[in-house]
Amino acid sequence: MNDVGQAAGAAAQVGQAAAPLRIALLGCGVVGSQVARLLTEQAASLAARAGGPLEIAGIAVRRPGAERIAGVSPALITGDAASLVRRPDVDIVVELIGGIEPARSLLLAALESGRSVVTANKALVARDGAELHQAASDHGADLYYEAAVAGAIPLLRALRESLAGDRVRRVLGIVNGTTNFILDRMDSHGADFDSALAEAQRLGYAEADPTADVQGHDAAAKAAILAGLAFHTQVTSADVFTEGITGVTAADMASARSLGFVIKLLAICERTDGGVSVRVHPAMIPREHPLAAVREAYNAVFVEAEAAGRLMFYGAGAGGQPTASAVLGDIVAVARNRRAGMRGPEPVASAGLPAIPMDNALTRYYVALDVVDRPGVLAPVAESFARRGVSIKVVHQEGRGEDASLIIVTHTAPEAALAATVAELAAMDSVRDVDSVLRVEGEVGE
Ligand code: NAP
Repeated sequence: MNDVGQAAGAAAQVGQAAAPLRIALLGCGVVGSQVARLLTEQAASLAARAGGPLEIAGIAVRRPGAERIAGVSPALITGDAASLVRRPDVDIVVELIGGIEPARSLLLAALESGRSVVTANKALVARDGAELHQAASDHGADLYYEAAVAGAIPLLRALRESLAGDRVRRVLGIVNGTTNFILDRMDSHGADFDSALAEAQRLGYAEADPTADVQGHDAAAKAAILAGLAFHTQVTSADVFTEGITGVTAADMASARSLGFVIKLLAICERTDGGVSVRVHPAMIPREHPLAAVREAYNAVFVEAEAAGRLMFYGAGAGGQPTASAVLGDIVAVARNRRAGMRGPEPVASAGLPAIPMDNALTRYYVALDVVDRPGVLAPVAESFARRGVSIKVVHQEGRGEDASLIIVTHTAPEAALAATVAELAAMDSVRDVDSVLRVEGEVGE
């Protein structure tokens, strides 16, 4: 902890009026501007909750000349984030720039000089979380990032603190609002992917470059953070099997609907005897499953723990104000710790569990084949599944002229067995095309 933080802690201990804690705000965009606004407008009530005043020491942005929100003094704005972070009057650094650099260097500089850090940067924490935590621990600082996963939903604190005495088995959820909005539009309006994405962009749910969302990278970073905290082990985004939603078609949606399913992009973190399995991919889930009811850009996460049972967290996963709520919560927590001259609880990553390769992951599958419409086509297809121990639960065949559509839903099987089966099916004379392969998750009541 730096001198200012120690002085604040000491003042609180001897009952003097607490000196202000000063915040360097890095970034003043969608989230940062709301954090600045709330820090300014709610200064008195935040001071009461944080044990003393919180002041903005400065706000670093990329374009210091651009117009900013009303109520925030232009004198606070700077284009020099590196100098702001090192200023001696700064106690807490709040990073809302995003991306890896310069955020990583700025946060390491802050932590190494004993300043506490609050960030919403999932990409950075999922990649370099271990290094940042080490720097925080070495220099007596806090590192909080509640807003990095599922926006306003208080999920990380629940895993880090409330469930610290339990054994979490599984975390399953919808953690990316953009893709949930797109898939919801495809399901409810019969839209194809491109038009649903265009609508999401028009309404501000998707960025101009939607790659990180639609390719699943954003959800994968969140899944890595969730799995690390849930299972007390180190998980990075590189450990997460990631498949986005760009391959989901209107035909898949219609087929899912006819089978009583809906398609969602899921983050699935599981602890098994052999390690942890973390994956992000589109999956069919039964329409009666609670996650099927998560519409538009909302997020929802199930946590299954041995003693607690099944817990569900639901709410706004993004947006300036909801995300700022989580950031403010962290700022108050960090401020309280500094005034008390202590650090908050550090997540424990001592379990050292290996990441299980996707080939060994167990799930159910939906396979749609375009086959020639003649008798005897089903037998070799069924044999191919059986040979690899993939048991079939549902078969649905529909003729359409010379071709037929063959829909198969399997029981639980390892990914590698399914992949080998699909490769064999694709090479069969009677199979014109493998139209679609999707994983199926979540028995109702599961
Ligand atoms: P944003 O609107 O793009 O704002 C980014 C801010 O960072 C802007 O003020 C920008 O300055 C500033 N900036 C960019 N490069 C900089 C640099 N080199 N030095 C100093 N400032 C720099 O981003 P956002 O949506 O608020 O997201 C911020 C963080 O919150 C990200 O990590 C994101 O993943 C996370 N998050 C966002 C949401 C959400 O709903 N938006 C939800 C959860 C988490 P200019 O204003 O001058 O361009």
